[in-house]
Amino acid sequence: MKPVHSSHKLDNVCYDIRGPIAAQARKMEDEGHRILKLNIGNPAPFGFDAPDDILKDVIHNLPTSQGYSDSTGIYAARVAVMQYYQQMNIRNIQVDDVFIGNGVSEMIMIAMQALLNMGDEVLLPSPDYPLWTAAVSLSSGTPVHYRCDEQAGWFPDIDDIKSKITKKTKAIVLINPNNPTGAVYSKELLQQIVDLAREHELVVYSDEIYDKILYNDAKHTCIASLADDVFFVTFSGLSKNYRVAGFRAGWLVVSGNKRLAKHYIEGLNILSSMRMCANVPCQSAIQTALGGYQSINDLVKPGGRLQLQRDLAARRLNDIDGITCVPPNGAMYCFAKVDAEKFNIANDEQMILDLLSSEKILLVHGRAFNLNEGIYFRLVFLPHSDILGPAMDRIENFFNGYRQK
Ligand code: PLP
Repeated sequence: MKPVHSSHKLDNVCYDIRGPIAAQARKMEDEGHRILKLNIGNPAPFGFDAPDDILKDVIHNLPTSQGYSDSTGIYAARVAVMQYYQQMNIRNIQVDDVFIGNGVSEMIMIAMQALLNMGDEVLLPSPDYPLWTAAVSLSSGTPVHYRCDEQAGWFPDIDDIKSKITKKTKAIVLINPNNPTGAVYSKELLQQIVDLAREHELVVYSDEIYDKILYNDAKHTCIASLADDVFFVTFSGLSKNYRVAGFRAGWLVVSGNKRLAKHYIEGLNILSSMRMCANVPCQSAIQTALGGYQSINDLVKPGGRLQLQRDLAARRLNDIDGITCVPPNGAMYCFAKVDAEKFNIANDEQMILDLLSSEKILLVHGRAFNLNEGIYFRLVFLPHSDILGPAMDRIENFFNGYRQK
């Protein structure tokens, strides 16, 4: 029998957050080690319980959620999402502009598959959340990374973006608040990106899954609220703000110059119907989540659990000789720079493996975020302070004695 190979479509597809190093951690767990996994932004296992109302809602609706729903989602959820963005000042948005999916992940795949032909270019941030780059590659597109500038609080470098626009550029992707850097973009910066998109007729994709996880009075602006004449696709969901990542409930919303995108929107409808619909019981949680009291605000306010953990992680990282970290203004990650010369590091993946084997702590190396310069890692600051503090001690001890061979 002939060997079975994977498709060439996968040649450039990479998602290292759950890649070989995570597999090594699993192997160590099987051998009896306890690994502290600071590699994935999954709030619930760290005791960030979902709001009660959401759980009750899903339980209440379970008996009547046995059938498929409409491909684009149940009506109540779509209305709730529409209203959510109306409150964010997106004008001219209707219920048909909302597509509910099995998490933002599925909607990113659908959005790229509906858009791209072979060789079409998409501008993506570097560092990025790697699913975006993978989705572009898998959809036959060409990812083109623009630089985010650490010296400027990890804001996108507008001149670099300009220099990378070609006749083949179809779209630009923003992640705001950003994973992995935690940057929250200013209105002025977003306006500059809108101006570029208008000038070069680019679709703007904005992944705003962390739009309520903001620290120190950071203000989030939904880029789609800034213009009516550019075509925007905005993404969010329940995984982070509402701590139910396992429910797989997310959405995309089209807005702005929808007339120009009529055929593209038809494509979104075709792809949505081919996968029937998103998980129905969990769609019912969307309306409840988006309305009323927002418990995430208690976690991110001064003295709130997430804010305290963010402060602790950023401070302790910056205290380590040879490590610096721009404190995040949003999301749940610290993205830290390691002095490659001081520790003689040529390979960031090896650094993370060495930390795993000596301290039993799992982080993610910078290259996994499509950042091809410098040595970096991402740390998830979700554990309680009494676990995070000792973990930071262990990371500090590791670097104090580390030199890569
Ligand atoms: N977008 C960003 C920026 C993320 O960080 C994540 C998950 O970490 C996702 C999308 C995926 O979210 P979902 O759970 O809704 O698929």
